[in-house]
Amino acid sequence: MNDYVPPQADEDAFHCPHCGVFAHQRWQDLQARNRQGGRSQILDGQVARCTKCDNHHLWVDEEMIYPQASSAPKPTDDMPDEVCEDFNEARQIVDDSPKASAALLRLAMEKLVQDLTGNEDQSLYNGIGELVEEGRIDERIQKALDAVRVTGNDYVHAGEIYSPDDRETALRLFELVNVIVELTITREKMIEEAYSEIPGSKMDGIEQRDGN
Ligand SMILES: [Zn+2]
Repeated sequence: MNDYVPPQADEDAFHCPHCGVFAHQRWQDLQARNRQGGRSQILDGQVARCTKCDNHHLWVDEEMIYPQASSAPKPTDDMPDEVCEDFNEARQIVDDSPKASAALLRLAMEKLVQDLTGNEDQSLYNGIGELVEEGRIDERIQKALDAVRVTGNDYVHAGEIYSPDDRETALRLFELVNVIVELTITREKMIEEAYSEIPGSKMDGIEQRDGN
């Protein structure tokens, strides 16, 4: 699991909101003076530049004001569209409402598991069991998923969102959804691609070995 480091004021390195890469950040102080009604007001800000993509982020009072920030990680490449939609919506609200964000992510997770098992009526619980049985996810992921499922039942109960959730839990859920996509869809795609590059003559040997 690659740990996601959300952008934070004055931190040396974090996952850049522009390029999504964990990169060193160069900081500079910004100051502006306003004069209103004979009084002057000093505005303090900072600008950080990502050493990977060279793009800037603007900060005021230790809060990122540009780009329109989400401290959550971006969806991984192979995420199915309908899962990605919920994932991105959850990213937009995670800083203002981590609880609602976590509830949305649980629904995203449910869609993902249904997508992977090809069974639209399947509960998250049964879907997880099936994926472990097929060896598509391992036990660590199962444990993490089951933790989400159990707390998830508290998050979404009869359309009511409640639970002493916090931002960190929500951020873990984003990572978890990404990791599951990487372990299943991305990995299976890679294996499929590698397999399709085996020359025909070698393939015959493999098929003979497997008794086809
Ligand atoms: Zn960057």
